[in-house]
Amino acid sequence: MSDAAAAEPRRRRMSPDETPLALKRRARKINRVLAEAYPYAHAELDFRNPFELLVATVLSAQTTDVRVNQVTPVLFARYPDARALSEGELVDIEEIIRPTGFFRAKARSIHTLARRVVDEFDGEVPGTLAELVTLPGVGRKTANVVLGNAFGVPGITVDTHFGRLAKRFGWTASEDPVVIERDVMELFEPKDWTMLSHRVVFHGRRVCLARRPACGACPVASLCPSFGEGETDPVKARRLLRFELAPGREDLQAEMVANASDAAAIRQRTESLAAAAASAAGPAPSPAATSPEATTGRHR
Ligand code: SF4
Repeated sequence: MSDAAAAEPRRRRMSPDETPLALKRRARKINRVLAEAYPYAHAELDFRNPFELLVATVLSAQTTDVRVNQVTPVLFARYPDARALSEGELVDIEEIIRPTGFFRAKARSIHTLARRVVDEFDGEVPGTLAELVTLPGVGRKTANVVLGNAFGVPGITVDTHFGRLAKRFGWTASEDPVVIERDVMELFEPKDWTMLSHRVVFHGRRVCLARRPACGACPVASLCPSFGEGETDPVKARRLLRFELAPGREDLQAEMVANASDAAAIRQRTESLAAAAASAAGPAPSPAATSPEATTGRHR
């Protein structure tokens, strides 16, 4: 073996003899389990059209989606489209987006971006990868977010979470986002690319954390060659689970805890609570028995 080949990183495998077909099957099974664990996975940035998503994605660099979602309603109320934003005063834009950090650079960035959308695309965000990446500050990641979520064009979005998890799952050995994107595309049908991206990012933000993955509370532990890289004790692992949600979404958070730690147990408990409520209510269900709390069992 040449030195170059020996130095080339190898992807992690479940077993030394895992074939490409077995890898593909395992990858698809992980996607199915994640779909069950995160049935509500979605783009976490709020938007109403491609322009809003494009700007929100640029603002999301180095900050949380929750923080971006706090400033974009104000920003888009004042500058509802690319033309309005391109004509805005930088100092006013800076003030609105200040909570997202790096606000001077980001204000310049979205201002220039809006100007280019007006000058070169008549004010409409283009719907192809080739055109999107010609816009300032728009790389493949941002372009794929916009294509997948605002235009319905399937794409794999390789952000920091997706890249980390793709390596841990053994789907790729590369650190290069373009190579990761290509390696993962080969494992899945195009129709699955966009939702897979959301699910993997959800999992990376909540369970498979960068420094200390919560392996002991992970729904795909049995399918992951990196099990053991993090905390394997279920009780300790559960304490590591993280959630990044807007205030007022506590119900969703409770559901995520349940899903991430033990989806089967919560389903069983929900069913028995619903059955108990139904039998206590008799043939004509009372309002209490049909309330969300009684039927979902979220508030324990
Ligand atoms: S088993 Fe551990 S490393 Fe693998 S996906 Fe789960 S949390 Fe991440």
